[in-house]
Amino acid sequence: MRPLSRGEQERQRKRARAGRTSRARPSARVAVPRVGFGYDVHRLVPGRRLRLCGVDVPSPVGPLAHSDGDCALHALMDAILGACGLPDIGQLFPNTDARFAGADSRRLLAEVVERARRAGYRVSSVDVFLLVERPRLSPHLAAMRAVLAGCLRVSPDAVGLQATSGEGLGFVGRGEGLAAWAVAVMTADEAHPRSHRTKKGIGT
Ligand SMILES: [Zn+2]
Repeated sequence: MRPLSRGEQERQRKRARAGRTSRARPSARVAVPRVGFGYDVHRLVPGRRLRLCGVDVPSPVGPLAHSDGDCALHALMDAILGACGLPDIGQLFPNTDARFAGADSRRLLAEVVERARRAGYRVSSVDVFLLVERPRLSPHLAAMRAVLAGCLRVSPDAVGLQATSGEGLGFVGRGEGLAAWAVAVMTADEAHPRSHRTKKGIGT
């Protein structure tokens, strides 16, 4: 191999220095958002209250569940917990635990938001999607969005909420159940001592 000239050696040293600097900066200063995804499904049965996003919707059927069966909030909680690397709601609020029988999921969501805060994260934005055949949810979406924003302590424009029917297809279309999906974007709280993540900081 041809030996490098002095000029070439100097240029190579400069490139190496620049490379080290550009790699060091982002990890030191930029808090990368974390994204979590959640899904939930419940069977619908006669005589149960239908509560979604904390809003009671008049309906002859409601979810069969240990808690209040708020499918939307359950998906959302798992999205938040997943983004933070925390245990899911099945582990935090087991359906074998009598303390959570009939539990108001808004209270559980408040606890999840608090756990995320203790782990060093706050909610940046969420998007929730509901799949329900009947009743139509459109008259209730504004109220649901307001409840979500309040529980999450974010402005309503940081909350996406959509609902659609199953078009008569599958278990949703036959009215046997309902489903919800949610995505949560979490940002590291810069004021938090654990803001720059270590394995030790996660899992409380
Ligand atoms: Zn559920």
